[in-house]
Amino acid sequence: MAIKHDYYQILGVSRDASDEEIKKAFRKLAFECHPDRNREPGAEARFKEVNEAYQVLSDRNKRSMYDRFGRVDGDGGFTDFGFGGLGDIFESFFNGFATSFGGTQRRVPQKGDSLQTHLTLSFQDAVFGCSREVEIQRIEYCSSCHGTGSEPGTSPETCSDCRGMGQLRRVQQSIFGRYATNVPCDRCQGSGTIISSPCSQCRGRGRVKVKRKMKVDVPAGVDNGQRLCLHGEGSAGLFGGPAGDLYVAFSVQPHRFFQREGSDVLYDLPINFAQAALGDEVGVPSLDGKLKLKIPAGTRSGETFRFKGKGIPRIDGRGKGDLLVKVDITTPQRLDKNQRRLFEELSRVLPRSEPPR
Ligand SMILES: [Zn+2]
Ligand SMILES: [Zn+2]
Repeated sequence: MAIKHDYYQILGVSRDASDEEIKKAFRKLAFECHPDRNREPGAEARFKEVNEAYQVLSDRNKRSMYDRFGRVDGDGGFTDFGFGGLGDIFESFFNGFATSFGGTQRRVPQKGDSLQTHLTLSFQDAVFGCSREVEIQRIEYCSSCHGTGSEPGTSPETCSDCRGMGQLRRVQQSIFGRYATNVPCDRCQGSGTIISSPCSQCRGRGRVKVKRKMKVDVPAGVDNGQRLCLHGEGSAGLFGGPAGDLYVAFSVQPHRFFQREGSDVLYDLPINFAQAALGDEVGVPSLDGKLKLKIPAGTRSGETFRFKGKGIPRIDGRGKGDLLVKVDITTPQRLDKNQRRLFEELSRVLPRSEPPR
């Protein structure tokens, strides 16, 4: 399946191109299709594409992320590779414009529609990554006629009105003199071909709506609101255009006692007065098993202890976040006789805070 956003292909470099090669390729292409210099239709879209490719491939982190996942974006503080859905809207608008511009109708390849589906993940699945299945509905080329629209064994005929050009030349008289314009051929609607025996499967459309089950490899570390892009898994394109993309948006369910802040995991640890005053060694839960925490004597409520690298894998592949354990000193709600006696004893010897004079 064709991939529209193959940034390497756009810049015409190999997947192991050096930074220098990428820069060189970008400069050359940007010069060629800069809208100020190049007035051909499509140059602007091409310039935008080249720019987008360079933004990603010239940045080491974005490039490695792109190599691994294609495109991952969202509001989770991770990379958003510039032109997202809006870009696609702009592109189709621009394509539509180019198609009808100057009164000519051409069979401009058009990218297929991009689709979005949704996956709800448990906290654990989001943290460690998982493999899931989604069911989508997309438009594919008809398998019976391979997208031609003609019943198998037959083929579309060349339109006799326009001789396959899809357009007719019309000479008109105006006050400025005679001028010629191209108008789309009515008979073949600009396609240049006539389907005399339409395919029975797709009724001559060449494309059909199908339901597909797809396996999605969810990378470790995804967060609420982030999307994964599966290149070329959207609907089929038109006139040989590339297929659209499939976006999988995630929502992540909360954990029973962990909270998440980006790639850090937060945990509130309840301890009592004595542990805080005297210090203690306690077990704390982490994503990969129990850890030991040494609470120093004189620990205050709210103090936070950090376990480096015990958090969630960063989606860009740069290691893991941390586990932050926040100490919460709990006040006993009910005291038995013995405890009461000890607290009363403590109360006699501990200094009282005096109001400032
Ligand atoms: Zn068909
Ligand atoms: Zn025609």
